[in-house]
Amino acid sequence: MSENNLENTLTRPSDTIEDYLMNMHVMERDLGEIVAARLAELMDVSPATVAMTLKRMERDDWITGKGRKKIHLTDIGRTAAYSVIRRHMLTEWLLVSIFKIPIFETHDEAHGIQHGISPNLEEKMREILNDPKVCPHGNPLPGYEHVTEDWIPLTDLSPGDSVILRRIHEFIEDNPEVIEFLQEYQLFPGKKIEIKENLSFNQTIKIAIDGQEVTLGYPPAQYMFAERPNS
Ligand SMILES: [Zn+2]
Ligand SMILES: [Zn+2]
Repeated sequence: MSENNLENTLTRPSDTIEDYLMNMHVMERDLGEIVAARLAELMDVSPATVAMTLKRMERDDWITGKGRKKIHLTDIGRTAAYSVIRRHMLTEWLLVSIFKIPIFETHDEAHGIQHGISPNLEEKMREILNDPKVCPHGNPLPGYEHVTEDWIPLTDLSPGDSVILRRIHEFIEDNPEVIEFLQEYQLFPGKKIEIKENLSFNQTIKIAIDGQEVTLGYPPAQYMFAERPNS
């Protein structure tokens, strides 16, 4: 059964389960595994709550292998995760392009809207938005992971490198302090930056953007990706 057919036969999970599925997809995509402790952190809930929810999710066939075993999305879990993350990312674009909401405010706003979008509306959004391959923060829609593959974490760049900032990862997209910082210095995808200094012993990197210098720590910088021009 194709993914779309499978999606049409599925009953959508609750909003909370959709949020879990979305985060699980991001972890599977970029960490290669789903880590329960990380889920608790990302979703800002206690490990006990995560454990309880994972139990329910396994009972309802969204995942396999809770507890000590590795957690995996089932086929229907993955289909549901793809669906919600697509709706999330399309909503972010809609907020940016129609409502002119600053890109770093779209993630939270999208969270309140994404769950109610029907497959029909999703299709219309996709058309209006010209079938985007990445969200406004540069994270790939399901099926377009290859688009972001060659982008390099800022922490891997060297002084003198001139690059284009392309992606702010989901792991920092919802950290209000980081977002405020990025907003202040206009560190948006598409901006040209130059690496001035990369001090691994100090875990800091200094970049130049719009004629000013900004120091970033490795914790956020490892989740910001750039593209070398003409690479
Ligand atoms: Zn987002
Ligand atoms: Zn995004």
